[in-house]
Parts: sequence; C-alpha cells; structure tokens
Amino acid sequence: MTSNNVLRFHSISLFLLKVLLIGLVVPLAAGMTVLFAMEEKELKSQLNEFHQNSLATLVNSAEDSMLSFSPEEARNIVSILLQDERIVRIEIFSSIYDLYLLRVSKETPEHQYNVYELKQNVTKNNEELGYVLVAVDKDWVVPRLQAERNRTIVLFVTMFMGGLLLIIPAIYFKVFKPLSRLMKQVRVISKGELGVPFSWQGNDEFSMLGRTLDDMRTKLDKNFSLMREMAVTDELTGLPNRRGFHSEVEKLLWLSDRYNHPLIIALFDIDYFKTINDSFGHAVGDEVLKNFAEFISGRIRKTDLFARVGGEEFVLVMPETSRDDGHKLLDLLRHEVSVHEFPHGNTVTVSVGYTDNSGSDTLEELMDIADKALYKAKQDGRDRIIFGSINESS
Ligand code: GH3
Ligand code: MG
Ligand code: MG
Repeated sequence: MTSNNVLRFHSISLFLLKVLLIGLVVPLAAGMTVLFAMEEKELKSQLNEFHQNSLATLVNSAEDSMLSFSPEEARNIVSILLQDERIVRIEIFSSIYDLYLLRVSKETPEHQYNVYELKQNVTKNNEELGYVLVAVDKDWVVPRLQAERNRTIVLFVTMFMGGLLLIIPAIYFKVFKPLSRLMKQVRVISKGELGVPFSWQGNDEFSMLGRTLDDMRTKLDKNFSLMREMAVTDELTGLPNRRGFHSEVEKLLWLSDRYNHPLIIALFDIDYFKTINDSFGHAVGDEVLKNFAEFISGRIRKTDLFARVGGEEFVLVMPETSRDDGHKLLDLLRHEVSVHEFPHGNTVTVSVGYTDNSGSDTLEELMDIADKALYKAKQDGRDRIIFGSINESS
C-alpha cells in the first residue's frame, strides 16, 4: 500500500467536511444578504413614508400661518414634528412676504447631517403662498440596519454552529471512523496478516464492505493454509514431502543437539519396486506405496518424523532414540514389512541405511551417511538394515 492510497482515502472525509461547510456557509450567507436587503428596503420605505406624511401635515397646517404671517403659530405647528429624531430641518417660506416664516434646523457646524429634502409649494385659490420643506436624516436607517444585522448574524451563527454540532459528529462516526477502520483492515490484509479478524456490526455500506473484506480474508487465509499444507505434503501418501521434511527435521536436530540427546535418521528404499510397477501397473504400485506409508506410520511414535523423500524412498527421524534402540526398532519394522501382505497380494522387502547423531549434527552429513549405508544394504543383498558412521562414509 502506498502513502498515496492512504491520503486519497482520508481526503474523502476532508472533502465531505469541506462540502458541508460550503453547503452551510453559502446558503446562510445568501440568506443573510437577502434579509439585510429586505430590512434596508423596509427601513428606507418607513423613512420615506414618514417624510411624505410629515410634509403633508406641514402643508395642511402651514397655510393659515402663511396667510397671516405668524411665525409663532408656525413654530407651534413644527415643534411636535421636530421632536422626531428623523427630522433634521423644516423650512416654511412665504412668497407673499418673500421671507422665511420659519427655518429650524438641528444641524450645527460640528454636526452636519446627510439629509434628504422634500419640498412642496403651498397654494390657496390658485395663489401661491410659499413653500414648505422637510429634510430628514438619511442615516437614520444606519444604526437600525446595523442592529438588525447584528441580530441576524447572531441568529445565523447560532444556526451554523448548531448545524456543525450535528453534522461533525455525524461525519465523524458515520464516515471518518468506519473509513479509518476499513483502511486499517485493508492495511493489515495487504501486509499479509490474514489471521487478524475484523468484526463489523452495522447495516451501513461501510459495515457491509468491512464484512465482505473479512470474508475475503477468511477465504484467503484458508486457501493459503491449504496451499502451505499442500506444499509440504505428499499427495499420494499424505506424509510430509521433501520440503515438509526439511522444514521439520531441523528443529528435531537442534533440540537433540542442544540437550545432547540421541537421535536416529534412517533412509528406507523398497526393494525391486520397479518390478511391482512392471508386473501390476503403476496404479497398484501407488497403492503399495500408500500402504507402505500407513504401515510404517502406524508403528512409530507420534514424535517421530516420517516423510516420503523420493519415489519409493522414505526417511524416518527418531528423536530420543539410541543406536541400540534404533537398531531393534528398524529391524523389527523391516521384518514386519517382509511378512505383510501388500495390495498386490504379495510381500515386499525394504532396505534401510541409518545413522545416529553422535558423528555429526548437520542434516546434510547425516543424510549422506545414511544414504551410503542404504547403498551398502542394497549391495549386501537387500532386506536388511545397515548402520553407517562418519568414519565409514568418508
Ligand atoms: P532397488 O531395489 O535397487 O531399489 O530397485 P528398485 O526397482 O526399487 O529401484 P529403481 O530406482 O530402479 O526403481 C524405482 C521405481 O519406483 C521406478 C519408478 O517408476 C517407481 N516409482 C517412483 N515413484 C513412483 C510413484 O509415485 N508411483 C509408482 N507407482 N511408482 C513410482
Ligand atoms: Mg530408489
Ligand atoms: Mg527401490
């Protein structure tokens, strides 16, 4: 597994998180912008309506004071209007006298307003009396809009945080965590550790993937075990083959050497086996080999190692066995084989070359000595056991 794969997997969660953040932020920001725009429009229309109403009131009530040119009366009329914070300036101009009847303003040299003016002529019987002007503070909407904006921001931030509080644990528990576990499972399998099970309980897609992966792992594990088993087992007899023999014998040799205990290695070769094949056919020859393997296996200890290392050649390793005991057992085996009726309805004989571990402790040497002793047994007339030692073999 490359680090690229790991990154790509992790980026799904990261990508989801980004999408969700954008998915939350964009609609919220759009919603907020629309709300602000509506609020601004509403406040502006409120101000405008107020402006129009104030002007209409002023036009209605200013008429008399214009006719009589009474600034006192005019002041009374505007005093109430002026109390409203939205109104910055009021002017009542008399065309008859060409004079301002009234001109009040909240503006000072220090504080100038950003105003919006509305002006209307006042007429009576088609005679122009003058005009009135009302100026309102355009910026009146600003603090109100700001306050509204702050309220909306608090509302939306609360909604956003609430959304995140729900979504982040959901992503973590439903996506990130199972995905990480799945990744770990894949890494363990790709390292070849097929004996590590991963159990998945849920019914979601990740659990199904995890379970499928675990099923695959179990099958792979079984198949590999079977392959390993097959690689070290002889198909015909079920005994360890040459490879199986080598993988097991070293441990026996090492233990015997370490504790200085005796051990016997014996090579068996069935005599004139070729004639059995020639006379009864290869299939019967096979049955004889199988029967021979079972026959010897049934007469040795569980701790002994018996393997098929060639066509009709077998090896027997007997730990904790002295030369004398080995001799007795091997000769008994040879005798029992010679009187046993094999599947072809006849007896066979076997020649055995054997040695103990007193002369050497390397497998190669011991096998070589046993092989030479076997050769001698064949030379001496077969159906016999011969002990070989390092001195004779060299
Ligand atoms: P010797 O006493 O000298 O050992 O004579 P031999 O005939 O046993 O020895 P040789 O090595 O000449 O022949 C061994 C025969 O074993 C030859 C071969 O066809 C046969 N053989 C080897 N493997 C198998 C097998 O798996 N099945 C059968 N049926 N025969 C096999
Ligand atoms: Mg042979
Ligand atoms: Mg033979």
